Amino acid sequence: MFDKSLGIRHLVCGSCNGCEHEMNALNNAYYDITREGWDIVASPRHADVITVTGPMTEAMREPSHETVEAVPRPRVVLAIGDCAAGEGVWAGAPSAGEGAGIELGAAIFVPGCPPTPDAIRAGLAEAAKRLA
Ligand code: SF4
Repeated sequence: MFDKSLGIRHLVCGSCNGCEHEMNALNNAYYDITREGWDIVASPRHADVITVTGPMTEAMREPSHETVEAVPRPRVVLAIGDCAAGEGVWAGAPSAGEGAGIELGAAIFVPGCPPTPDAIRAGLAEAAKRLA
């Protein structure tokens, strides 16, 4: 990565899409994370950060671990939303995992259901700081 830039690859592991709705705002003219040198990338090979949402589904468990492993080191897994932390509406449900962030070893957790774009942005800033 270049100094302070971030390649971000997103993983959906059973999210209701509410967290993604807030993440999408990061690309609008108001939040525009590209001004920070941060961008969503198409491949984990080009990523520094994996963002992950949802409680973890059975179908996503193996591919999500493979995706994280495909990201070059150093890397950061950033869990977005309460579900990814094993809390929130899916906590304890028989079809839900422990939380995608927990299962994938997230270093940073952004709480909320869903978190605001500002909170997600702060989480990304923390990831950039740890990777710098
Ligand atoms: S934290 Fe809330 S908004 Fe995000 S995936 Fe879970 S239920 Fe949906």
